[in-house]
Amino acid sequence: MVKRAMFPGSFDPITRGHENIIRRALPLFDEIIVAVGINIEKKGYFSVEDRMKWITKVFEGEPKIKVLSYSGLTVDFCREISAGYLLRGLRTSADFEFERTVGQVNKKLNPSIETVFLLTTPEYTSINSSIVRDVYKNGGDVSLFIPDAVELPAVM
Ligand code: ADP
Repeated sequence: MVKRAMFPGSFDPITRGHENIIRRALPLFDEIIVAVGINIEKKGYFSVEDRMKWITKVFEGEPKIKVLSYSGLTVDFCREISAGYLLRGLRTSADFEFERTVGQVNKKLNPSIETVFLLTTPEYTSINSSIVRDVYKNGGDVSLFIPDAVELPAVM
């Protein structure tokens, strides 16, 4: 059976922290679906198309990685794509508390799916998409925080 994991998130935009988790998870799975969640109530900053395009560029030439978007329940999409694992990154104790709740609810909703957590690499602990957006909107240099392959458009 194919070991397929889904890595769900907003990726608005993808950061070096996300990239690091995905690359470190590669030896654990046959396939990783990076899934951009579309939240009807919370419109993202960058378009879903751009977010997917940047993730695809980062993992160009890596056959184990696929990029999709989804809406609705994460466990439902997991089932739809036959992924047996959910992949999540843990940065802080706040992440842990949040992930524990979500992970335990997901387990109730679909007991066959296991969530796998990887601890962040220390230098990426402080990187998150919302800080990257703030720096970007204010004209700061975000290149240290986003993958080398990603080039954000000039701020309007
Ligand atoms: P969400 O929209 O659910 O907050 P994100 O798009 O920010 O999700 O992130 C998706 C996943 O990537 C989450 O598991 C999150 O913990 C993880 N992640 C985000 N930033 C980092 C980082 N700097 N280091 C490790 N994991 C991270």
